[in-house]
Parts: sequence; C-alpha cells; structure tokens
Amino acid sequence: MDNWILKGVRNLVREDGETQEITPTQVKVKVTHVLLSKFDALVFNGDIEAQFPKTLGRYAIGIVTEAGENCYGVKKNDRVFLKPALPCGECLSCKSGDPDDCTDIKIAGKDYDGYLRDFVVCEYNEVSPLPESIDNFQALCIELVGIAENIYDRLSLSEGQRVAVVGGDTLGNIIAQVLQYHKIIPIVIDNNQENLERARKCGVYYAFPADDEAVKNVAEATNGNMCDAAIYSTNSNLPVSLTARIVGNNKAVVLSGFSALNNSIAVRDVIEKGMHIYGVTNAAGYCGAVINMILHGAVNFEHFETDVLDKFDPVKLLTEKSANMRMPKNNNLTILKLMF
Ligand SMILES: [Zn+2]
Repeated sequence: MDNWILKGVRNLVREDGETQEITPTQVKVKVTHVLLSKFDALVFNGDIEAQFPKTLGRYAIGIVTEAGENCYGVKKNDRVFLKPALPCGECLSCKSGDPDDCTDIKIAGKDYDGYLRDFVVCEYNEVSPLPESIDNFQALCIELVGIAENIYDRLSLSEGQRVAVVGGDTLGNIIAQVLQYHKIIPIVIDNNQENLERARKCGVYYAFPADDEAVKNVAEATNGNMCDAAIYSTNSNLPVSLTARIVGNNKAVVLSGFSALNNSIAVRDVIEKGMHIYGVTNAAGYCGAVINMILHGAVNFEHFETDVLDKFDPVKLLTEKSANMRMPKNNNLTILKLMF
C-alpha cells in the first residue's frame, strides 16, 4: 500500500501505509484518481508551508471499500469525492455547531493528510458520493467550481453586472463560467492566447489580451463604467495591479488560487478607489451545491486538456511542475490513476 509522504521541503517519499480499522462512523476508500495540482507543487516546493510529515494530494476521488454501521448516505462500492477542505472543529463557530462559518478551514495535503495514497480512512461526512453522470475529471474539479461559487456568494452581484476575471487558467475559466451560470457577464483577461481561445469556446463574449489596450477594452465593454468587481487568479502570473485599473470606485476585488509568486497591489489604488479586497482559496461546505451545479451543466469541461498517467513518479512530476510554475510547458491537467 503506497503512501506518498512529504517529510520536508522537496523530500517526498513512498512508504507502506498501515492497515487501518474503521470505526462505525468511518469509511475506507480506495483512491482511484488524484489531480496533481499547482497547490501540491507549491507545498512540495516549500512555497506553501505545511507541517511535516504530511501525505500530499489535495484533489482526489475513490471507491468506498468498507463503511461502518453508522455511516449515512454512503455505502460500500460508492464512488466518492474526498473533501479537500474541512472545518477545523476547534474555532468558536465549529464549537457552536456552525462549521460552515469556520474561521480556520483546513486543507488536504497541507493541514491534514492528503490523498496521494492507496487507501484513506476518514469520517463518512468527509466524502461526497458522486452521481454516475458526473465523470471522474468533473469530480476532480469540484473544489475549483466550489471556489468559483464561494467567490460569487462573497461578491453579492446582480444579474447583468460585468465582472473582470484576470487569468483564464483552469480556475479563472471555471470562475468565468460560474459567473455566466448566474447571469453575470465575465470579462476574461489573459496574456495566454490558448486561455483566451478556451474562454471564447466556453461562451465568454469578452476575452481580451492583458496588453496596453486592456483598460480601454474593459472601458468599451462596460460603457465606460469599468467592472462591478474583479477576480484575480493567482495562477495566472499576471500583475495583480491590473485589477485596480479595471474596477470602478468602491468595488470589490477577490484574490483567488494559491501562489508563491510575489505580486503586489498599490495601497494608493486601494485607498483612492475605496476597494474591498477578499481572499478566497477554498470551498469548504460547497460539495453538495457544486455536484448539483455540475449536474445542471453549470460548467463546460470539454475544452480542458488532461494527461492521465497510470505509471508516474510524483517526485519527478512535482519537481517539473515547481520549475515550470511561471512558464508552464503546457496547460494540460495531470491526473494520476492509482491501480487496485
Ligand atoms: Zn472551525
């Protein structure tokens, strides 16, 4: 039984997992697919701090092989999504029975053991059963759609408003699509032609290059009013200062994703524009809602390219991913297939 444990920065080792017994409220899950993410690469590289040792792997799905007698809504042989973010259980909200308002959300592969391993034993409510019509790739993207939905909730937008999405990478693209699902008009800005093209294929009408014309293009697209909000995907590697130039006064900017790259926004812009800035990096509590959204076709996944690997060396893959953080060789998403 393989378990990929990060013992220190760039020190990822494979160990034999121990055979674990389940309690009546626990399930045992055979992990079948892991989406190897930029987040994993940042933790591996020490750009995001984790407490070692920690099993790596934030996004995964699997099959339940055992379920305790007091597990509800999940049974043996169910295909499930392993939750990548969980309430802490310690803060005031958690202790008052309100985990949705947890102030210290924990993330898999950083704060608790992640899923790059053969078997996971966890509480039954830490997995979400997957309907048959949601395919493996869509399931692996549940957290990304959840982050998009979390951002939408945070912004309290109204139909027809125009919102900039800076960065058309996977997360940025999904954010734009979720905005469209809620009848908000996204304006995607990126310096990557492929990402702009993909946004257009997904029905985004305004997709502009991040060049000297960007501000003028946004002004045209908003009748001169500029955007009602801007969402910045840190994965995009674009200058975050761009967001300040394309939102109107007293509007909100959301910073999303994870990045170790230094990037700053001018305090003067924040003060003069009366900007509200939020950070959204997880989607704890959104699983059920997101599964429902995917079932309703909220996001078109067909334009994402994936590499599915059944033989892989995580150390090599993560080393490459960290090295190519600024200039990825390709935008394909890496899915690791774990065999029985
Ligand atoms: Zn909490």
